[in-house]
Amino acid sequence: MSSPRIEVDLRKIRHNTQTAVDGLQACGIGVTGVTKAVCGHPTIAQAMLDGGVLGLADARINNIERLRKAGITRPITLIRTPMLSQADAVVQFCEASYNTQMVVIRALAAAASRTGKVHGVILMVEMGDLREGIMPQDLGEIARQVGTMPGVTLKGVGANFACLSGVAPDAAMMAAFSALVNDVEQQNDQHIQTVSGGNSANLPWALGGHDTGRTNDLRLGEAILLGVDPVSGCQIDGMYRDAFTLIAEIIETDKKPPLPHVSCTEPALASLRLVPKAADTPRVILAIGQQDTDISGLSMAPDHWMIGATSDHLIIGTKRSKPRIGSEIKFQMNYSALMHAMAAPDVETYLLQNRASPKAQGSNRDRALA
Ligand SMILES: *Cc1c(COP(=O)(O)O)cnc(C)c1O
Repeated sequence: MSSPRIEVDLRKIRHNTQTAVDGLQACGIGVTGVTKAVCGHPTIAQAMLDGGVLGLADARINNIERLRKAGITRPITLIRTPMLSQADAVVQFCEASYNTQMVVIRALAAAASRTGKVHGVILMVEMGDLREGIMPQDLGEIARQVGTMPGVTLKGVGANFACLSGVAPDAAMMAAFSALVNDVEQQNDQHIQTVSGGNSANLPWALGGHDTGRTNDLRLGEAILLGVDPVSGCQIDGMYRDAFTLIAEIIETDKKPPLPHVSCTEPALASLRLVPKAADTPRVILAIGQQDTDISGLSMAPDHWMIGATSDHLIIGTKRSKPRIGSEIKFQMNYSALMHAMAAPDVETYLLQNRASPKAQGSNRDRALA
């Protein structure tokens, strides 16, 4: 097996998905599986589908194209407002997309009309995150316009929380969102099918016994991939945190004195201490670096600790007595580390516990272990 590599336990992803799906089913909410952190990896997407998500979503059209090329035929939604320059591809590969801009919706409608399709539009409304979204007072008029435009159909309304602001949605915000959906329906006399209340940050609200109102969909990535609540960083009950493991190889095991041997005339260099003060700190260098992942998002066994990293080297301290050159060290990743590592060309993905799935195949960088 090559390194650095990510080992993906698909059974844990299926389990986490099923746990979210079962919990949310009780409040009438379906789950859309978000694949952007794994770059639209088709086998991981299939594990989400096997776990019971109703459809998939991704922020990038390239990832969605990858899913389609792998043979996934279930509904896939683009959750980032489409680029105007990609309207044709969005209509080609997606059933629906999240939108905030009339100029883009018109381009989607034109692209769909040219190919005899009808593209679903989900209008994203700003509910306090201050990232993307139509201001609530403008939603009704835009919904009306979309409702009369050939080539597109008003499929739903969505909100997004805790991405830019980090503020988790509470019962009052979610009640306001439901009320807004009801208003838009009444104003325009049109039924809104998909009411997508948010992302993984909505789980504590949805599972907390509140009235979930009109929300009938959540778009979940981090919760099912990493088993954590993105706002608190806490493990979600009954979910695995370790579906993904990053593995890197030891390339040097020398002890180093506390300061560099070179005489430092530069004051900034002289004060730079790469290693703790204790002399002869046992340390290892691993063949992985900033280019491969977000190093600050890695965690490791308690007998190792982080010393520093550069583009291609990761230096850790260790209490283990005889680390060997060529042996490997394992890390758990947070969302940022996962997303960078999945996109890094030198990090291979190895799939464990795959279920025979004739349709979804990984890329040729993948190796199936089981
Ligand atoms: C990334 C994203 C999600 C998924 O977020 P998670 O925190 O990974 O669940 C949902 N909706 C939108 C619009 C997103 O950009």
